[in-house]
Amino acid sequence: MKLPASIRIGPYPCKVVRSSPESEDFGTFDTTTYEIEIAESGFSSEAQEAATVIHEIIHAIIHIYKIKVPDEEGLVEILDTALAQVLKDNKTLWRALLKALK
Ligand SMILES: [Zn+2]
Repeated sequence: MKLPASIRIGPYPCKVVRSSPESEDFGTFDTTTYEIEIAESGFSSEAQEAATVIHEIIHAIIHIYKIKVPDEEGLVEILDTALAQVLKDNKTLWRALLKALK
């Protein structure tokens, strides 16, 4: 999957980098540098890779907007799956929303 060089979240351009194959994580969000790291390979599918990107974006949102959650990982895991499903199953809605947000 082709990823942009950075993703803007709030006022911050979060640099997106690919991690080396020996990395144990599929994705990480660095709360110091605001860098999003996505594994170069090892995903079982493109859908898993996409969900990982969504997952790290949600972590970034939580940190950048200083949202206090008691179980961040648990919440992020539910939201990455739910958002991936809503995105996938409502393609025309997303196009309409993007058009309206321009
Ligand atoms: Zn996580």
